[in-house]
Amino acid sequence: MREVRREPGCELCDLTVPVVWQDEKLSVILVEDAAYPGFCRVIWREHVREMSDLSRDDRLLLNEAVHLVEEAVREVMAPLKVNVASLGNVVPHLHWHVIPRFADDAHFPAPVWAQAARQTDEAALAARRALLPDLAAAIAKRFNE
Ligand SMILES: [Zn+2]
Repeated sequence: MREVRREPGCELCDLTVPVVWQDEKLSVILVEDAAYPGFCRVIWREHVREMSDLSRDDRLLLNEAVHLVEEAVREVMAPLKVNVASLGNVVPHLHWHVIPRFADDAHFPAPVWAQAARQTDEAALAARRALLPDLAAAIAKRFNE
């Protein structure tokens, strides 16, 4: 694997969470968010700010990766809706959030970055957390095919 240039002190270069899948271009992680089990992030490994800075091939590759993760999230988490978002205003790393949404989640139907509307029942969250190993396996399976 080609060595990817890392920027010292960058939290997306130095991932401290388990990586579900990675190649020389991108990483897929499960985000550690207590209110959102199944929240995934697809991170472009080089520092690139905008999708239009990528070559067309890389843009298609990243798009396909995001949608493979979305498929796995749908299959395993069975959400009401999947939110796919790219914000990245702070870190110059293209990354896409893939977020399973449920009618009882903390912000539904608002974006997860809005003011919380409720606290999700702990048993419902625990049941979703129990699916995370299956989600990681479903993501890895899709990328390895
Ligand atoms: Zn970085």
